[in-house]
Amino acid sequence: MLLRIRPAAAAAPSLRRISSTYSARSSFSISSSSSPYALFPPTNIFTAHSLHSTTNLSESTTAQIAPDTPQESEIIFVGTGTSEGIPRVSCLTNPYKKCEVCSKAANPGDKNKRLNTSILIRYSQPAGNLNILIDAGKFFYHSALRWFPTIGIRKLDAVLITHSHADAIGGLDDLRDWTNNVQRNIPIYVANRDFEVMKKTHYYLVDTSVVTPGAAVSDLQFKIINEEPFVVYDIKFTPLPVWHGKDYRSLGFRFGNICYISDVSEIPEETYPLLKDCDLLIMDALRPDRSSATHFGLPRALEEVRKIQPKRTLFTGMMHLMDHEKINEQLIKLKDSEGLDVQLSYDGLRVPVTL
Ligand SMILES: [Zn+2]
Ligand SMILES: [Zn+2]
Repeated sequence: MLLRIRPAAAAAPSLRRISSTYSARSSFSISSSSSPYALFPPTNIFTAHSLHSTTNLSESTTAQIAPDTPQESEIIFVGTGTSEGIPRVSCLTNPYKKCEVCSKAANPGDKNKRLNTSILIRYSQPAGNLNILIDAGKFFYHSALRWFPTIGIRKLDAVLITHSHADAIGGLDDLRDWTNNVQRNIPIYVANRDFEVMKKTHYYLVDTSVVTPGAAVSDLQFKIINEEPFVVYDIKFTPLPVWHGKDYRSLGFRFGNICYISDVSEIPEETYPLLKDCDLLIMDALRPDRSSATHFGLPRALEEVRKIQPKRTLFTGMMHLMDHEKINEQLIKLKDSEGLDVQLSYDGLRVPVTL
């Protein structure tokens, strides 16, 4: 079921520019006429800018958008599950105990089948769509394979990173298919602490001078963000800093009146004002009974919903103890009893939004 989101006026916190931009692509790979990148005309390059940038937006974007069919903006749930994916292989090979959820999830099309948590914002503009992905985890290839051809997602105009765990950045290498065959490069918006991790986990994507000449890895343009709002094309993103375990920071993102918090164990007091007047909250809910050290469980997630008071909530990041149909049957009752519009999301869910 698709529900339309009608945001009220957006909050307008103070804005600062992205602190720095880092691109390590060695110059020869783009400038050489024999480079495969010569396949892509310069108009395919998308530029990102801060609100304070002097870049003329109409000049920087209108001529550069691929001729997609214009349509309504929407959020696509690329993945809604935990790091190991659902079904768990270990559940399907367990001779002693049958896991009900993983057994169901093994069936094609079942809503309990979940890959790494991620969404794609498909932003409709008169000249075409912009596709902005939040996180590209270990199973990004499999999610993209499942949904992108069906939905018609070809290019990736930006990737925003919530944090640097493997289920959020493990798919950076797979972006090579896009930068080799669809577009010249992809801007990656990432906090400096997570960029420092990428220097170790994906050192060859950060410093492409180490790559064997002739090998074509992902061409990523790293744009370092801090915890201040920034602009991608003409969408303002407000980082929502949260704790994801003790002393470990993760970012949620607010865009329009939509708030996305995929990995959270604690919301700091200073983040709550950024969640005001939220039309759609997408939030972490790992398991039905309790929270873990790094994630909200469903009871805590519901407590937060009562506090934040969004118009609608979709939970994400569910493990195999979360039975899609059974939990949603319980959650729907909260509409009558408390006026809470809360449901579990699922891989492939599309929600029309106004941005
Ligand atoms: Zn299981
Ligand atoms: Zn994580």
